[in-house]
Amino acid sequence: MEIAKLYWPNHTHAPTTPETGWRWPNFRPSELACKGSGSLKIDPASLDKLQDLRATIGKPLRILSAYRSPAHNRKVGGATNSQHLQAKAFDVMQKDLDPAQFVAAAIRAGFTGFGFYPDQGFIHIDTGPARHWGSWPGLDLDKIKAEVARPAPARSLSIAPRLGPVARAVAALRLAFA
Ligand SMILES: [Zn+2]
Repeated sequence: MEIAKLYWPNHTHAPTTPETGWRWPNFRPSELACKGSGSLKIDPASLDKLQDLRATIGKPLRILSAYRSPAHNRKVGGATNSQHLQAKAFDVMQKDLDPAQFVAAAIRAGFTGFGFYPDQGFIHIDTGPARHWGSWPGLDLDKIKAEVARPAPARSLSIAPRLGPVARAVAALRLAFA
């Protein structure tokens, strides 16, 4: 595979530490490779967004599935046009992550597709067409999208963290009527 040659000219199997050109410090090739075939395909723009998301969250993201070879995608029952085939999708385990915080950060990082799998404990994110499927208990995707889209009032940013809930409400009212 071409991308593998680019990063690991002397290796048949991807080593833990890539030789050159790897700009995603929190992710290793081995965790992004196809879980079935072991082959690796990377979409740099999508991986940049994943790295941004990881930086915002500030703790490890456990990737259950990233790139899938066509054969492995069929085996796991993936959609025929799955974004995993293009290395533009990541299934991220939600244990130890706040789902709403994760989704808000993912939207900010530029992810556009969301699939919710609460029974299996993961959320699918991708950079394909804007769409979503499934749901997560207590998570309102439309509300999160609206909150992310709304620009934060500049003046409240500096004072809000130091105020208690009542003072924050009063400050918000003052801003609303300013
Ligand atoms: Zn997925």
